[in-house]
Amino acid sequence: MEKYVRPEIMAMNGYVPGEQPKAGQGIKLNTNENPYRASEKVYEAIRQAAAFGLSRYPDPTGTAVRVAVSKKFNIDPDSVLCGNGSDDLLTILTRTFVGNSELLRLPYPTYILYRSLAEIQGADSELVPFNTDWTLPDTFFAAAPKLRLVFLPNPNSPSGTTIPKSRILEIAEHLPCPLVVDEAYADFAEEHCIDLIEKCDKIIVCRTLSKSYALAGLRFGYLVAAPKWVAQMMKVKDSYNCDSLAIAAAAAAISDDNWLAENRTKILATRTRLTDEMRRLGFDVPTSHANFTWNTRKNVALKPVYDYLKNLGILVRYMDYPCWGEGLRISVGTEEQINQCLDFIEKFL
Ligand SMILES: *Cc1c(COP(=O)(O)O)cnc(C)c1O
Repeated sequence: MEKYVRPEIMAMNGYVPGEQPKAGQGIKLNTNENPYRASEKVYEAIRQAAAFGLSRYPDPTGTAVRVAVSKKFNIDPDSVLCGNGSDDLLTILTRTFVGNSELLRLPYPTYILYRSLAEIQGADSELVPFNTDWTLPDTFFAAAPKLRLVFLPNPNSPSGTTIPKSRILEIAEHLPCPLVVDEAYADFAEEHCIDLIEKCDKIIVCRTLSKSYALAGLRFGYLVAAPKWVAQMMKVKDSYNCDSLAIAAAAAAISDDNWLAENRTKILATRTRLTDEMRRLGFDVPTSHANFTWNTRKNVALKPVYDYLKNLGILVRYMDYPCWGEGLRISVGTEEQINQCLDFIEKFL
């Protein structure tokens, strides 16, 4: 019966997300979730929306969120599209711009999901390696036959490094096609590209509430793009891709700037300590602009460190990128979680 499955799907390995152990067990530092509780205003908004009832379909475009985003960044609500997590937006983008046998470009190493999205479309993907200092070569914006879309996570995962805004504008201006800047971690960085959309309509910015808003379980993201792109993507998305509870919760979260600022301050303080301590223990750690650090070292195999921590109930992410090398990506947890993790790593060494 397998002959009925599309060959593109048969050929895929499928994207494997980070491990999700049973709730409440151990210390989870492997998928860059926020260790703190989301704003109480979010929980209140969900209670109110639930009290109103769920018998009706939700607002198909998530107007409450589009308005909240437009106020926050002083932009047109018609330039905002809501998604069921930013993974949903990345799927919508790929389906909108990249057809069968066309080409999607991404840097390397980066978020592995992008490649799976191209595979599902029956499209090809081209990986442009970062330079060893995590800058991008000019080949990243070179024209290529059938190139339809370019993904650039900024800050990048797993490195936590950023490409300066001026360079992103330069890349977009040279590219023949749209450039998606995936800003899943931009709230932990110093700059973002949402206002570049006015300067260059090839730029599309993707955001998620999973990391900086501590709402990975909610599944909500949004993108900002020229209204002419958003209008096309509206045709591709599921009619009701975001539910009523999530729309109410996301609007409340996005409107609570104080919560975001306080959370950011805590995460950045712990990130600095994690970076300093890992460097003291002999790891190479690029300066992070996200809520995780990328830790590599020469002459010590890192898989045994990962296994050792896992046995003690501390889950970090071990990654081994072909032609690039291995490393441990450690999410910024609470001070206490990071202390425990650091203590055990020191013991192991
Ligand atoms: C976590 C992450 C996402 C996914 O966010 P969701 O909204 O949870 O789907 C997208 N892009 C990058 C680079 C991420 O790290």
